[in-house]
Amino acid sequence: NLQDKLNKAIRTLKGSGRITDVNVASTVKEIRRALTDADVNFKVAKDITDQIREEAIGQKIVIAVEPGQMLVKIVHDKLTELMGGQAESVNLKGSPAVVLIAGLQGSGKTTFSGKLAHNIKKQGRQVLLAACDIYRPAAIAQLQTLGQQIGVEVYAEPDNKDAVQIAKNALKYAKENSKNVLIVDTAGRLAIDEAMMQEVENVKKAIEPTETLFVVDSMTGQDAVNTAKTFNDRLNFDGVVLTKLDGDARGGAALSIRHVVEKPIKYMSTGEKMEDLDIFYPDRMASRILGMGDVLSLVERAQQAFDEEEAARINKQIRQNQFNFEDFYSQLQQIKKMGNIKDLMGMIPGLGGAVKDVDISNDSFKPIEAIISSMTLKERKNPDLIDGSRRRRIATGSGTSIQQVNNLMKQFEEMRKMMKTMNKVQDGKMKLPPMM
Ligand code: GDP
Repeated sequence: NLQDKLNKAIRTLKGSGRITDVNVASTVKEIRRALTDADVNFKVAKDITDQIREEAIGQKIVIAVEPGQMLVKIVHDKLTELMGGQAESVNLKGSPAVVLIAGLQGSGKTTFSGKLAHNIKKQGRQVLLAACDIYRPAAIAQLQTLGQQIGVEVYAEPDNKDAVQIAKNALKYAKENSKNVLIVDTAGRLAIDEAMMQEVENVKKAIEPTETLFVVDSMTGQDAVNTAKTFNDRLNFDGVVLTKLDGDARGGAALSIRHVVEKPIKYMSTGEKMEDLDIFYPDRMASRILGMGDVLSLVERAQQAFDEEEAARINKQIRQNQFNFEDFYSQLQQIKKMGNIKDLMGMIPGLGGAVKDVDISNDSFKPIEAIISSMTLKERKNPDLIDGSRRRRIATGSGTSIQQVNNLMKQFEEMRKMMKTMNKVQDGKMKLPPMM
């Protein structure tokens, strides 16, 4: 993928003392190939690589020390610029604000509608979801299930076959029930089709949305760009939502959609869970593409998922050397709330590439959770009680092996030891051991 290729291209440069016409040419060629391989429009790829070459060569004297790093920065800045520079938010003004969601079938519209509703609800606003996908019977049920899960009301008329009418009625209902935001999920087809386009256009005219978002599957590569162009020609949408960036998504869609339709990408979606929604920050996306990690998104997710009071309580437990399995279990749950664990690890600088092929998912926590659940409350609070016979009982109770229980106990002990050391360091009783 793009990230691997750019890393490789830049690595060849890192060995040399300075950027010259000759060595930059091969690197630029690599970068261009990486971009086109990732479905970036050829012209777009040529444009940026030409600019990169010019800037790189122009700065060769200043950067004689670390040409690789300088080039990383130039590439990073170019990618950021190409993806729009700044993060752009959705317009939620109006009473209610109306957000129209459009895109092909399977692009992730319904899932995204749920995520956006969840996100807005967390900001303390009243949201109404409207189900206007009248062709796929399961679509209404899917939205209703999501609505229930996140505690957001869903407006639907299962027997009505007129999407425009349903949308109008939903808007009326939203006004009457003092909702702040109405999110309208529309029907998609597998491919662009005139009847679908006309219908979405009619819905748009009828409800005059404050914000029209186009949802596109980032795995569809160059097609994503063509679909975006067609939808934009008809709907003149305000922003793009890129979904399925947790898969083997090619970075190319993000790069060239912006360039071709000149509309900002506002959100990116990285999973099926309601929490897996992130604002699209062009600079962070560029960092991610270049393997520089995405610490800021990670911090933001943590801020949303972690319960402050509980975090403070656990912190106190740690400070008093009383961290136990109850606390550990609670922390696991909070981490899980932050979303997909592999995604989270990918946001840590330097780890992105390393975890790419590692087989780890939130299911990896299951045996640990089973083991802790098989402990008695007393054992959870006093891990030292857990001797050999208790370990056997816990293994049987949790359906794991005695070895798995032993491993967890050992890791837990090491964690506690490290916490104790950190406490002594903080209290000034001890210096940090060199390895720390
Ligand atoms: P719609 O037809 O446009 O409404 O698409 P759906 O919302 O039903 O999504 C189609 C499929 O893609 C469903 O199985 C979703 O669970 C899945 N999906 C949606 N968004 C994401 C995402 O960001 N990542 C992954 N991995 N799957 C997604």
